[in-house]
Amino acid sequence: MTVENEWFQTDYYKVLGVSENATLKEITRAYRKLAKELHPDVNKGSEEQFKKVSKAYDVLSDSSKRKEYDEVRKFGPAVSYGSNGSSGNVNFKVDDISDMFSGLFKGGFGKNSKRTTAYSQRRGQDVETSYKLSFEDATNGKTETLSVNYPADCHECNGTGAAKGSVQKVCDKCMGSGYLQTDGGLFSLNQICDKCSGKGTIVTNPCPVCFGTGKEFKPQRVTVKFAPGSSSGQKVRIKGKGLPGSNGGPNGDLYVNLTVQPHKLFTRKGFDIYLTVPITFYEAVNGATISIPDVAGKKITLKIPQNCPNGRTLRVPGRGIATKGQSGDLYVVVEVEVPTRVNEAQKQALEEFEKNRNDDINIREKVESYIKVTQEVKK
Ligand SMILES: [Zn+2]
Ligand SMILES: [Zn+2]
Repeated sequence: MTVENEWFQTDYYKVLGVSENATLKEITRAYRKLAKELHPDVNKGSEEQFKKVSKAYDVLSDSSKRKEYDEVRKFGPAVSYGSNGSSGNVNFKVDDISDMFSGLFKGGFGKNSKRTTAYSQRRGQDVETSYKLSFEDATNGKTETLSVNYPADCHECNGTGAAKGSVQKVCDKCMGSGYLQTDGGLFSLNQICDKCSGKGTIVTNPCPVCFGTGKEFKPQRVTVKFAPGSSSGQKVRIKGKGLPGSNGGPNGDLYVNLTVQPHKLFTRKGFDIYLTVPITFYEAVNGATISIPDVAGKKITLKIPQNCPNGRTLRVPGRGIATKGQSGDLYVVVEVEVPTRVNEAQKQALEEFEKNRNDDINIREKVESYIKVTQEVKK
C-alpha cells in the first residue's frame, strides 16, 4: 500500500482524538497523553496502537505533511500517469467539498443547504493538474494526452457509501432531511446536518471500495496542445475540462501547470537557445570550422574565428525556437579547453611557446598594478 493510500484510508485525527482543525499544541498534547498510555513498556499488547498513534503524530505535527495528508483525505490518492514524464496530482481549487460535489451528485449534500442558489445555474469548479514536458517537446511544441482524475460516484456502491446488501439508517438527528433548522429570530437558518453530512441517511456498514465516502476518482483522457516555446511555470488552460456545472451551468476549466525538464546540452532564454561548445586552445588561436547540433538535432557548420577568446558567444540566427510569429536564435558559447594532462613532447612545445611569447606584454599588468600592500599574505 502506498503512503497516500494509507493516508486516504486512515483518519489520523480520529487516531489522536483531535478535531480536524486542531492546533499543533493540541495535537502534541493528545499525542503525548496517548503515547504515555500506550507505550509497549507500560502496556503490553498495545504495540499496534502505539505505532498507529506515532504515525499519526508524525504526519500531523509536520505542517507540510499535514497539508498533503489533508489533501489526500479530501481528494483521494494521486495517480501516476505512466512513463512519459508526467506527474499526476490533481488539485481542485475548492475550499468547500460540498461545493465541489454539488454539481456531481444529484441534490448535492443537503437539499436545502443552499436555498438561494439551489435552482440557479452554477459554473463547475476548475481543476488543476501538473505535467512535465521534455526540453525538446517544450521547444518544438507537442500534443499530449493526459490522464486526469475526476471525482465520480463509486462504482461499487453507486455513490451511497454503503456496502452491498447493507441497510442505510435514516439519520436520527435530522430525521432524514439532511439539514438542521436553527431558530434565528426572524429568520430560521438551515444548516447541513453534521451527523450525516447532509445526506439524510447514515451508513452503518461502509463500502469497502470508497470507505463510505461514496466517491472515487476515475481517470479521463484529456488532449492538451503545448505550443512551441512552452516554458516552466506556465499554466495551460483547457476550457470546459473542469468539473461539470450544476443546473445547466457551464463546466469549469482544467489548468495544467507545466514543468519543462532541463536538457543536458541546451538552455533557454525566451525563444533563444544557448549551447556551450568546447574547443581546443589550438582551434581558439587558429580558428576552425566545427559541427554542432541545433535543438532539433540538425547539423550546423560553425566557423570559429581566429584568436577567439574563451567565453565568446557566437550567434546563429534563426536556429532558436520557431513559433508562428517569430523565431529565436541559437547562441553558442565557446569554452576553450585547457589540457589537464600533457606528455613530454607537448610540455617541451609549450615551454618553447612560452619562451617565444611576446615577453614585453604582461597579461596581468592591469591586475598587478592594483597591488599596494607592502606586507605579503601567502594564500
Ligand atoms: Zn463505494
Ligand atoms: Zn442528518
